[in-house]
Order: sequence, then C-alpha cells, then structure tokens
Amino acid sequence: MNAACRLCAAPLTRTFVDLGMSPPCESYLRPDQLDEPESFYALHVRICERCLLVQLPALVAAEEIFTADYAYFSSYSDSWVAHAGRFVDDMAARLGLGAASFVVEAASNDGYLLQHAVARGIRVLGVEPCGGVADAARARGVPTESVFLGERTGTDIAERHGPADLVVANNVLAHVPDLLDFVRGLRALVADGGTVSLEFPHLLRLIEGRQYDTIYHEHYSYFTLRTAAAALATADLGVVDVEELSTHGGSLRVLARPGEHRPSEMVEKVLADERTAGLHTVEGHAGFAREVFAVKAGLLEFLLTAAREGRSVAGYGAPGKGNTLLNTAGCGRTCCRSPWTATRTSTGCTCPARTSRSTRPSGSPRCGPTTS
Ligand SMILES: [Zn+2]
Repeated sequence: MNAACRLCAAPLTRTFVDLGMSPPCESYLRPDQLDEPESFYALHVRICERCLLVQLPALVAAEEIFTADYAYFSSYSDSWVAHAGRFVDDMAARLGLGAASFVVEAASNDGYLLQHAVARGIRVLGVEPCGGVADAARARGVPTESVFLGERTGTDIAERHGPADLVVANNVLAHVPDLLDFVRGLRALVADGGTVSLEFPHLLRLIEGRQYDTIYHEHYSYFTLRTAAAALATADLGVVDVEELSTHGGSLRVLARPGEHRPSEMVEKVLADERTAGLHTVEGHAGFAREVFAVKAGLLEFLLTAAREGRSVAGYGAPGKGNTLLNTAGCGRTCCRSPWTATRTSTGCTCPARTSRSTRPSGSPRCGPTTS
C-alpha cells in the first residue's frame, strides 16, 4: 500500500516487522457473534526512512476503535491507579500545583488519574471521546468532555476554560492517528508557561525485550525519544526532561514546554542510549523481524507440546497484547472451544474472557495452535 509518514509525510516503503493479519484487539465478541465473520487488518509496521518514526498505517479508524462500547477501563487495574496517584503527587510537588491550578488530561478514560488531582482540590477537565468510560469519570466527580483532542477542540476548550498549567497525555500519543493535529491540540491547551506530560512505551525497550505483542492496531506509532521530540517540535513544544519507567515493558515520561529549552542531562542520556542501540539510523532498526520469528517459534513449540499432552493453557487478564501474541502464533478460530455461554470472547483466537473472580466450571477450555 502507499502510505505516508504521519510525522513527515514521506512515503512509507520500508518494513519494521510484518505480523500478518489480526483483528482489532479490544473488541470482544458476544456468544451470538461467534459464527459471524470478523474483520482482520494487516499488522505490518513500517519505519519512515526520513524521520525514523516506526508506525502502523491507520487501517482501523480511531472512531472505530474508541467507541461508546470501548472496553478498557483504566480503574480496573489497581496498580495503574496507584501509578497515576504517584504521578499526580510528583507533578503537584514539581510544578507547585494547588487550588489555583488547572489540569487537563487527554484520553482521561474513567478518571483514574484526574481523581487524584480532584482530591487535592485542583480544578481539572478530562477529554475522553469514549462515551462509556467518560460517563464513569463523571460519576466519580471528574468533569469530562467527550471529544477527540486536536487543534480545533483544544483551542475551543482553552477558550472556554482557560489555558492549563499541566496537560497530561500519558499513554495516548501512541494511540493517535493524526499525530500532528494532536500535538497542536496539546499546544492549544497548555499555558505559555505550562507543562505537557507524555508517557509512551519506549521503542528501545520494545526491541530489546522483543515485546512484539505490544504491537496492535490501537498503537499507531512506536516512539523513541528522538521521534517523540520531533513530533512535539512541530507544535513548538520542546522536551525539557525525561524519566525512564518500568510500565508497559519500559516507558518514557517526557515533560515538554512551549518554546525552546535546554534539555536535562537525562534527556541527553536517553538520546545517547538510543544512538548506541542504533535507533538514530534506519539500518539500526533491522533484525527485529528475525527476533520475533524466534519467539513465535518457541511459543508454537510450547503450545503444540501442551496440546499433544492434553494440557490446558490459560491466559490471565485478556489484554490486547494477548490478541497479537496468539494471532501471530497462528492460534486460529478453532483453537479454543469454550464450554461457557454467558461470557465475552477475544477476537480472532476466540479465547473466552472471564473475570478474575470467576470459578472454573467443569470442562476447562483448551488452547492450542491450529495448522489450518
Ligand atoms: Zn517520517
């Protein structure tokens, strides 16, 4: 296909890794949908030879993924809510946030993060396009507008509510198909002396850890600090600091401000690490596909052995990355036969998804790869 880079508009002709075809991962099927056809989309990740942004073309529109039925509620994860609480504590101390401050979060989900700012008496606003999770945020006292953030909506919000001292866009940058419009939205929201915070999985750690299961259609872009800084610079946002986090297999928390700034020593250190790993050249990204094949072959060996021995294989958490892992390994539609009825099922591999409090019924599910 003839796709253009979402950062610099150069043609995308070079493959980073091709994971074949896969269905959208956060869509779960009802029992009555199991015999119906499903849509599969290519998971073919490209790298831009000009700006080095690693990216999936937006084959699945954001409006198709982030719907009113969007199934991911951040507050279901206790550890993630605690992570958000520590973030708010850190930012309040670092930026001196208090009763006179205004904090806006893009993709604020169900208010998992902003609730901690509300508890500190800080004025907040969530921006969350998915109706169901936005309703959950309002129910816990987090005012929320249901729109996608872009230049137009960011400008509109700033005009009505005033510019924000802190704009939080943690774990959203990777999910944005129109990257340039989104960073212009961040700039429109933030005060001239304010701060933007972004968290995203670090491509360096994804490659090091062979974490190819974090590649799915909701993740349009895979950033190094270098490419994230280049994206922010298009909207006059300069990186001032960065922190390495253990979340999502190794993430970066980037702080940026309007205008140009002298970056911290940590920014220089992370950029140097990326350079050493070869990630500041297009050739340095080569070889990942071979590593992925080795992991996939090992997983298939394990599953085939388990299937031959009559063992059951269960996953915990039914995350989107499980979908990539199983579909890439060729666990097709016949791999799991669920004895359960009142449940939802992952797309593609049709593994039944159950709550962690569920008791195990008689006749356990079996997972194994199919050869068809
Ligand atoms: Zn590019």
